[in-house]
Amino acid sequence: MTTKRRTLVHWFRKGLRVHDNPALYQIFNVARESPEKFCVRPIFILDPGILDWMQVGANRWRFLQQSLADLDKKLKELNSRLYIVRGKPVDIFPELFERWNVQLLTYESDIEPYALQRDTTVQKIASEHGVKVDTHCSHTIYNPELVIAKNFGKAPVTYQKFLGIVDKLKLPKVLGVPEGLPDGMKPIADEFEAIDSSVYDCPTLDQLVKRPQELGINKFPGGETEALRRMEASLIDENWVAAFEKPNTAPNSLEPSTTVLSPYLKFGCLSARLLHNRLKEILVRKPKHSKPPVSLVGQLLWREFYYTVAAADPNFDRMLGNAYCLQIPWQKQPDHLEAWTHGRTGYPFIDAIMRQLRQEGWIHHLARHAVACFLTRGDLWISWEDGQRVFEQLLLDQDWALNAGNWMWLSASAFFHQYFRVYSPVAFGKKTDPTGAYIRKYVPELAKYPAGCIYEPWKATLSAQRDYGCVLGVDYPHRIVNHDIVHKENIKRMSAAYKVNREVRTGKQEDQNDHEPSTSQSTGKRKASSGANKSAAKRRR
Ligand code: FAD
Repeated sequence: MTTKRRTLVHWFRKGLRVHDNPALYQIFNVARESPEKFCVRPIFILDPGILDWMQVGANRWRFLQQSLADLDKKLKELNSRLYIVRGKPVDIFPELFERWNVQLLTYESDIEPYALQRDTTVQKIASEHGVKVDTHCSHTIYNPELVIAKNFGKAPVTYQKFLGIVDKLKLPKVLGVPEGLPDGMKPIADEFEAIDSSVYDCPTLDQLVKRPQELGINKFPGGETEALRRMEASLIDENWVAAFEKPNTAPNSLEPSTTVLSPYLKFGCLSARLLHNRLKEILVRKPKHSKPPVSLVGQLLWREFYYTVAAADPNFDRMLGNAYCLQIPWQKQPDHLEAWTHGRTGYPFIDAIMRQLRQEGWIHHLARHAVACFLTRGDLWISWEDGQRVFEQLLLDQDWALNAGNWMWLSASAFFHQYFRVYSPVAFGKKTDPTGAYIRKYVPELAKYPAGCIYEPWKATLSAQRDYGCVLGVDYPHRIVNHDIVHKENIKRMSAAYKVNREVRTGKQEDQNDHEPSTSQSTGKRKASSGANKSAAKRRR
């Protein structure tokens, strides 16, 4: 059954908010201007296929479920609602376009390769059905395509270079919440709603969370309401905002020492543009303030930087074929990976972090540094791709561009090259938590260990271990590697890998100078710029 009025559809993907959402704004504006002609259906597509292939842990499913429920509530306040449609976008759009007599589809643009591919197909389907498609860039402050274009078609590969470019760009206008729809604009029930009025309702927790036993505490509930509350709470102390320097925040405080806005930015429950605006307003009132890269604005710009570089390379999340990434001969070590993943390395600081991640879905940036360095070039010599996959499953804020970009940084595979600077899994945590309170919280087996050896339980004698109620090898694992030895060996391995990458690069340069086709699997900076160039150019076409 087709309705008489034509339907305007806004497709929520990320951007799960009503504030500063240009694509939603557009639909509401068009509808309000001609209420007799249109009805509005904001949709979210739950693709059952994604439930299977995406590495999403229980905590992130819960976050999504809460975000959708909150979004529905917010839309109802605007005299609309959220319609959850189940199926694969490319399968269901043709039917939806017909069923609802759709005139216009809007959505927020995305840089992730799978999304780009899907969106291209959806646009083709829309055009075959005479549906106009409008997209808006609002997940980032700056449009990555524009930044790349301003840099002559290449992604800027350093943060400083990136800052230089965006400094000259105009900031987008931040939008408020659209005005609510007038009464009487509700769509007429389609054939499915006529049978079951709950057909498009939000999913329940048990529909999304397949392994409820894996749910941790609900410390960071999803949704725009909570995102805005959390942003306001973070900004209330303007002196704190102005003085913020990331290296001076603690990886192991019992309560977060940074904003924990990342899950909300990831799902778009909070607009990065709004947060940026609010921070800038505060800095005008506090002229003496910290600056990028360490300031809070600087943190948001790291996000922008990674989005821009990632937009230029569809292989950004893997080592092979990735234009930015050095090729390092990492080794598969399933036992060590398993121990790291589940917080059983025998290094209490590392294990505490990995257990916090599993329980709460968020860990501090420097805690991420510590465990990422430990897994890769520091201690275990396991590929950053394996670490990325574990983070992908467990982080609430898991983000394709930021996760890969930061993993490459920490493993000294791209963007950062001082591989000889290795975090100590013992000394690093002690600086900000000398008594080990954080370890006691997340590794309770060690709760009775005194400050003197809680970071190095192997230093306690067997009888002391018994006294503390935790014997190594029985109640808590022996350390799986000896950091003092392996990190030195790994520095040598890194040095050798860098040498090979340099040689391959130089060889390739010579090849190109001779105008001969290169047959080598080339990596490194030179390829980085040409590869970034090519894919950016391809995407602009
Ligand atoms: P704040 O310090 O309060 O910063 C505010 C916002 O700035 C953050 O919410 C985030 O959106 C952005 N930001 C801060 N640091 C970075 C950074 N280094 N790179 C990019 N953006 C940043 N962040 C994610 O959002 N998703 C990920 O999947 C992710 N994976 C990471 C993997 C590794 C190995 C490492 C080392 C870092 C990763 N980060 C990731 C970056 C960073 O750790 C988190 O963004 C940050 O810790 C989130 O906490 P916050 O919101 O309190 O940050």
